[in-house]
Amino acid sequence: MYTYCLIAISGCVERLQFEVRCFLAVDKESKGISSDMGMKRRALLATGTAIAAAAIHQVWSAEPGVAQANKVVNLYSARHYDADNKVYQAFFKKTGIKVNLVEAPADKLIERLKSEGANSPADVLITVDAGNLWRTQQAGLFQKVPTSSSLYSRIPANLRDPDGFWFGFTKRARVIIYNKTKVKPGEIARYEDLADPKWRGKILMRSSSNVYNQSLVGSLIAALGAAKTEAWAKGLVANFARPPEGNDVSQIKSLAAGMGSLSVVNTYYLGRLAKSSKAEDRQAVEKVGIIFPNQKDRGTHVNISGGGIAKHSPNRKAAQLYLEYLASPEAQKIFAGNNYEYPVVPGVAIDPVLVSFGKFKEDKLNPKVFGGWNRAAIQLMDRAGWK
Ligand code: FE
Repeated sequence: MYTYCLIAISGCVERLQFEVRCFLAVDKESKGISSDMGMKRRALLATGTAIAAAAIHQVWSAEPGVAQANKVVNLYSARHYDADNKVYQAFFKKTGIKVNLVEAPADKLIERLKSEGANSPADVLITVDAGNLWRTQQAGLFQKVPTSSSLYSRIPANLRDPDGFWFGFTKRARVIIYNKTKVKPGEIARYEDLADPKWRGKILMRSSSNVYNQSLVGSLIAALGAAKTEAWAKGLVANFARPPEGNDVSQIKSLAAGMGSLSVVNTYYLGRLAKSSKAEDRQAVEKVGIIFPNQKDRGTHVNISGGGIAKHSPNRKAAQLYLEYLASPEAQKIFAGNNYEYPVVPGVAIDPVLVSFGKFKEDKLNPKVFGGWNRAAIQLMDRAGWK
């Protein structure tokens, strides 16, 4: 039986308040919980980087006797999905290795890894978007996974770093969505068409500070070159229905409410709203249609959620085992399926909601390429007036 308890630690690090919440799924017969938590607290309190509302989750066995002393993997994750907890528990059941989770936005985790340096307790960093993986690699915060690892054979080459520093574990497509009362299917087919003056004042778009749009622009730079992409971005900005605001969910809801004709969002947000317990969410998503762009040429922009082994991982073997587990059919189904993402491993079944979106041709551009264009993309969006 699990017992859940909540420990709140408030502190002041570098004059910033932070809070650590520890959700412990404690097997009452497990021993040594205090020493492990002591380690985590020390590690956390030692760090110079304040992380607002960071959360540590420790997963303990529901089966007495499975837990083994010192078998642990310290995971820094920017994924904020409840489904991931199921993966941690399944991994523990399979291997006896506990997952200690530090959860925060990617930029905070990257800063934290930098400030912790060689003393970092982090074994694995998992984040969303290739732009963040690229930044982590550029900062020298990952280490190469040996080529003998099954990660190389299980994960297609276009969804992992060619040098083996990071691997994609889920995919998400960035699609064009339209308000069904304002646009007919077939009226728009490519990202490039978003700059067409016929959409003047009709496009809802998220801010250029969002990494999903930065990666999309990075993929356009790779396909069209910087000059054409900048001209495209200027045309797109001229078509905005309002200054950029809100997240992907907000774009879907605003579009459904008739505030614009077109927008661009990640597929899993559409899946989440379609499966939401709230009727208004389901009604919103019913009002929008999905277009997988660029089907007749390079394919739809696909991004990944992925990760790698931290440069100074104290539990390197466990870290590699954890990544390999994420690429197993069992974990792929949970990790991708519960968040309506696409698995990266071929042959793993996808959620019926994703099946309902239809099959599509993916842009096979390696995330390293559009991740590498991240800085240029930000500057270009800035010049184009994309707030
Ligand atoms: Fe997201």
